[in-house]
Amino acid sequence: MKIPYNKPFLIGKETKYIKEAIKLGKISGNGTFTKKCQNFFQETFGFKKCLLTTSCTDALEMCALLCNLEHGDEVIVPSYTFVSTALAFVREGVNIIFADSYDNNPNIDADKIESLITEKTKVLVIVHYAGSACEMNKIMQIVEKHNLILIEDCAQAFDSYYDKKPLGSFGHLAVFSFHETKNIISGEGGLLVINDDNFIKRAEILWEKGTNRADFSRKLVSKYEWIDTGSSFLPSEIIAAFLYAQLENYQKIQKKRISIWFEYFKQLQALCRNNKISLGCQIDKATTNGHIFYIICKSNDERQKLIDYLKSFDILAVSHYLSLANSPFAKKHLKNKTNHLENADKFENTLLRLPIYYELKISQVREICNHIKDFYKV
Ligand SMILES: *Cc1c(COP(=O)(O)O)cnc(C)c1O
Repeated sequence: MKIPYNKPFLIGKETKYIKEAIKLGKISGNGTFTKKCQNFFQETFGFKKCLLTTSCTDALEMCALLCNLEHGDEVIVPSYTFVSTALAFVREGVNIIFADSYDNNPNIDADKIESLITEKTKVLVIVHYAGSACEMNKIMQIVEKHNLILIEDCAQAFDSYYDKKPLGSFGHLAVFSFHETKNIISGEGGLLVINDDNFIKRAEILWEKGTNRADFSRKLVSKYEWIDTGSSFLPSEIIAAFLYAQLENYQKIQKKRISIWFEYFKQLQALCRNNKISLGCQIDKATTNGHIFYIICKSNDERQKLIDYLKSFDILAVSHYLSLANSPFAKKHLKNKTNHLENADKFENTLLRLPIYYELKISQVREICNHIKDFYKV
């Protein structure tokens, strides 16, 4: 493929830092580079406490454990999202309640959340789709009024803001991903952000296989013991070393991706004005971090024709999520009280993501847009 949808890249000292980690004599987890990465997030975005994880999915599983849920509790999750957002909670024996998107934005429709809340609702999980913020003013009001735990799935939302406040700092807990398809990458990798003090101590224990190893290294206890549930949630120093090299250059990466995003936006404005496609709407006060650039086609059929047309020029554009409420797993295993989620269904059928990656050239963005304009013949 001449222009793939995504392409992993090296930005600077990735391989140098991996060698350094080996020379330091420790490549298991929670070493020098893990701490550097965690400190980066605490200092750059003001998150209270950060723990590096092997994936965003793992960080979500830690969230599910931290919420101390009981059988029959309800967790509200958007239907238009990646499997992991819901999956992490399924094993806790809770009911997943799917929420719909706005009609002009794939994010959770904040005006529809309250109708889903019952006395069993404990947790609200939100996803900042394409790295663009949900309607946080309304969401924070709902969370306070109903005393819910708020979890932000920021897998796509690195270095993005709502009302100048970084995404990942609103929730009691938040999670990030460094999967190779995200803005900042380490192959696989994730981060748990803990903004509420009450969760910190237990998070450290879950992270270290249910032991009080954190207290042991602080010399607060004389030996470390098995005291809770947990897993091996921490990544190796090799992953952390790679990730730190990317974080050091995050501004360069963000600048490039955002410039690609705005070039698409500029080039495709006319098609949007002529009502051939839609570009979706951002929530007021939300920034773009250049994670995804998508267009919304008129129908599934038209989208498929455009995908095939671009493929004939060796360009890969891709659809995105299948609405989770319609999934075979949800139908078989979840007591799904929610009806037909028409906006999630619409995005399932019509949303198309255009290539975006660090090494994509602005001239290539123009080339892609010219093909799209030809397709719609304007
Ligand atoms: C990528 C993604 C995840 C999963 O991230 P991993 O690091 O691959 O586990 C979860 N939620 C959303 C919204 C994502 O985009």
